[in-house]
Amino acid sequence: MRPQTIARQQRGVIIPGIAYYTTNNKRTEMPIFWWRRHKADPNTTPVAPVTIPRSEHAISRSLISENALKVLYRLKEAGYAAFLVGGCVRDLMLGREPKDFDVVTEATPEQIKEVFRNARLIGRRFRLAHVHFGREIIEVATFRAKPLATAERDDDADEGEGRLLRDNVFGTQEEDALRRDFTVNSLYYNIRDFTVVDYMGGMQDLKKGILRMIGDPATRYREDPVRMLRAIRFAAKLGFRIEPGTAAPIQERGQLLLEVPPARMFEEVIKLFHGGHALATFELLRQYGLFRYLFPLTEDSLATEENNFPRVLVPEALANTDARIAQDKPVNPAFMFAAFLWEPVRQERQRLEAKGMNPHDALQHASERVLREQQRHITIPKRFSMPMREIWDMQSKLLRRHGKHAERLIEHKRFRAAYDFLLLRAHAGEVDQELADWWTRFQEVNPDERDGLVSALAPQEGPARRKRRPRKRRPAAARVPDGS
Ligand code: ATP
Ligand code: MG
Repeated sequence: MRPQTIARQQRGVIIPGIAYYTTNNKRTEMPIFWWRRHKADPNTTPVAPVTIPRSEHAISRSLISENALKVLYRLKEAGYAAFLVGGCVRDLMLGREPKDFDVVTEATPEQIKEVFRNARLIGRRFRLAHVHFGREIIEVATFRAKPLATAERDDDADEGEGRLLRDNVFGTQEEDALRRDFTVNSLYYNIRDFTVVDYMGGMQDLKKGILRMIGDPATRYREDPVRMLRAIRFAAKLGFRIEPGTAAPIQERGQLLLEVPPARMFEEVIKLFHGGHALATFELLRQYGLFRYLFPLTEDSLATEENNFPRVLVPEALANTDARIAQDKPVNPAFMFAAFLWEPVRQERQRLEAKGMNPHDALQHASERVLREQQRHITIPKRFSMPMREIWDMQSKLLRRHGKHAERLIEHKRFRAAYDFLLLRAHAGEVDQELADWWTRFQEVNPDERDGLVSALAPQEGPARRKRRPRKRRPAAARVPDGS
């Protein structure tokens, strides 16, 4: 039994000490490291790395992006220690295809720039290098120490204190391992000898399928509340269990997410729901009480559901997103936001209509209000909020199928998204399935058969009915509450 094995078995921060253990049936006294379960300062506490030889792990160079390998080799040839780190090592170990390959090295950004002609230094808070290979960018960071915090890390500190202030302190590899979020994200693949270096017991947790925060979880959430979202995201993506000590503070500290800038929240929300596991993520977010801090109006509407449809619409939309990603089809954040915010918009619209506002204006006002409220939590850039509103606007247009309406609508650039959204609503029982089926059929038939579909519609929707109305009044189709 190696001392490191003891270190890997328990949670906490390693401090040096003396312990006994048995080798070959002999009692030996050896200085070893053990885990201390109290809150030690991860900035200064030494850790004992475990090195896993090539023969004992599954990472083969054939699974690593050629460009990432080029970067690693070049750094090595220039005399610098260089590693793959983070999600790519974790995913390779699990036999999954990594999203991207992150490199970490002892070389400073300036030294990295000297090694690579195709490197650009980015970032103000923490400078790192992007090495460009056509469309692929390999991010190369320098070992970093944990940044300074606003207050001593203490559970009794006031809310808002203990958050990270600066993020630009270079450090040793040990310090770099300690400042990472989860043990499974703190594994290093060494290009020098193809070993994996594990400072935090990540290998053991990887094998057990456990997400464990490095250091004291409550403190680490206070430093960066986004880590709570990352816990949920990785749990959903990897099917991992969140270790009880890592999970416990999440329920109480969700409101810390309100302090995260809405622009960063947007990026995180995209990662949460466009990673191929949106439905599982949504369910975990609700279970951990975090969803309300992302989409408070949606959370309220889920609580006051009517006729069962909000509960169905959002999960259905997320299941669709997952299915599209699994088939390598494109997904658009506009559709996701349209689904999340539809029920709040629909309820607000109903309220305004009950006060006498016409359906068109009520929808516009409701959309604006809901969007404004949502933007306080998550910035939705215009390039997504505009198409989102178009998807909503088109829901009432899809009710008008007579004459040349349908023919024109199908040419609209947002038709496909609006139609997909209509399918969701039909599935959720919010509009007649007949309407959705009609549009499906309309797209399937030859253009010359489309007239037949239009003329087969019930007469009250056709132009004949409208002609019978007095000229001054608005057309029946526009006045009938469309339930959208
Ligand atoms: P994926 O790229 O598959 O979503 P990842 O683990 O690589 O997952 P990234 O956001 O790419 O996630 O971050 C790379 C690494 O940087 C992480 O594995 C982790 O070690 C570290 N890291 C990222 N964000 C944080 C954070 N908020 N706090 C501490 N460490 C972090
Ligand atoms: Mg990554």
